[in-house]
Amino acid sequence: MLPDLKLSYYNFAIPYPEKQVYIIYNSLSNGMIELDWETGLIVSKLNSMEIHYLDADVIEVLQRNGMIIPREIDEFVEVKKRADTNRATCDRSDTLFMVISPTNTCNMNCPYCYQGDKTPGEEDTKYLGPENMEAMKKMITQIVYQPHATPIKNIRIEWFGGEPLIRKKTIAEFSEFVIALSKENGIDYQASIITNGTLLDVATFDMLEKYHIRDLQITIDGSKEMHNSMRYYINGKGTYDRILDHLSRMPFGKFYVTIRINGDKAVYRELEGMFDDLEAKGIWPQRDSEVTFSWSPKFYNFLGYNQDKDVYYTSYEYQKSKEDFTKLKVERFNRWASQHSVATKRLNFAYPSFAEFYCGTVESPNSISVDDSGYIHKCYNTINDKTKRIQHVSEFDPTQPGMDYYRHFDKTQQPDCRTCKVLPICEENCNMRFVSNAESKVCSAWKYFMEERMRAIYDYNFTEEQDAHTMIARNGTVETC
Ligand code: SF4
Ligand code: SF4
Repeated sequence: MLPDLKLSYYNFAIPYPEKQVYIIYNSLSNGMIELDWETGLIVSKLNSMEIHYLDADVIEVLQRNGMIIPREIDEFVEVKKRADTNRATCDRSDTLFMVISPTNTCNMNCPYCYQGDKTPGEEDTKYLGPENMEAMKKMITQIVYQPHATPIKNIRIEWFGGEPLIRKKTIAEFSEFVIALSKENGIDYQASIITNGTLLDVATFDMLEKYHIRDLQITIDGSKEMHNSMRYYINGKGTYDRILDHLSRMPFGKFYVTIRINGDKAVYRELEGMFDDLEAKGIWPQRDSEVTFSWSPKFYNFLGYNQDKDVYYTSYEYQKSKEDFTKLKVERFNRWASQHSVATKRLNFAYPSFAEFYCGTVESPNSISVDDSGYIHKCYNTINDKTKRIQHVSEFDPTQPGMDYYRHFDKTQQPDCRTCKVLPICEENCNMRFVSNAESKVCSAWKYFMEERMRAIYDYNFTEEQDAHTMIARNGTVETC
């Protein structure tokens, strides 16, 4: 009997019958070991009173990886401490992150667009005019120069909308100001843009390069027919061909493009057509180092809409579709690679990372989203919701209580999360989803696919030649004992 020891609450015993081993993983320590089948089976059925049945060397390995712990330890105290520490780290962020919507208007008229009420109110300008621009410059200067516990070392600007490229002059003027401010103060500056891609002609690429706007996110929703049924100009004409033409003419080696796919079950069925066209235009896989994808499933009940259960995803389906998309992407890449004498890729899952618990964008005092009338929001996903305005840039006060709105929740106290065994590695950290509508919360892929992913990670890292006690250490690197 070993009365001073107990099993960790965060253990996972994952059988791998084909390899005749058990993978033992602990989400609090992030440690993973393999045990032979018989020992693993015993560990999987063990209770804390029975630890003495194990051999001393097995107990030692399990202890070293946080799977057996001193009985007096309350592991949840450690989880809470990590969450509080992460929150405090956001408070000291040395990055000033601004999301700016130069206009809420758009040259497209997508029916699913969530960009809010487009009817201008009396105080609305519909675009960032000269007064708002001056106020924004004053605000950013104030943030950089104010005596600050953590001096600003990085500035990141993301242009958002509406369609931000409708207001190229605004982007140019503010970028010039911020680039000069950054240079004067030794600050690293980078910028990105979320655009519908219809205005990306050669001159616009030049402009983006000039203002260091290197990361572009462009939406393509599946095949031509599917995309054009949802993403069309105000006159109803589809945008697919125009976007692909622009992407095919993107200068080499200057930009990173993320193709966002606002996915539902119908769009998923139409992805092959999109991949065919991207390949025919030489965009992807040919430019794999510059072009990537973000499969963004629309899930059930997000912000109280998307209620069609036959089309939209539940939390599980959301994560499953992401896994499926990754597999499809690797298949498509390898099909092309094998025809062009290019090395194929192997699907692997990243080893888990420790959770951050909260969204850095709403937690950091140096993170601000500005709408097209100069009003500040904390979460950029509300930038077109007039009810979520906190204050105007001309009256910027970082201590305004509204700036803390999304910080009024504690993930570790959410009933589901508090008892969840993947909480220490849960990557789903959207404060807004929790605060505004708990039903729209998405759970971690680790909750649904722990066993499948861990077996893949095991296959990738453990080879026949390695001895039986090879393990992946807490930081995810391979350690041999
Ligand atoms: S939607 Fe969620 S993750 Fe995105 S900025 Fe808002 S709070 Fe953060
Ligand atoms: S997987 Fe779901 S229940 Fe578990 S911690 Fe993450 S959000 Fe909470």
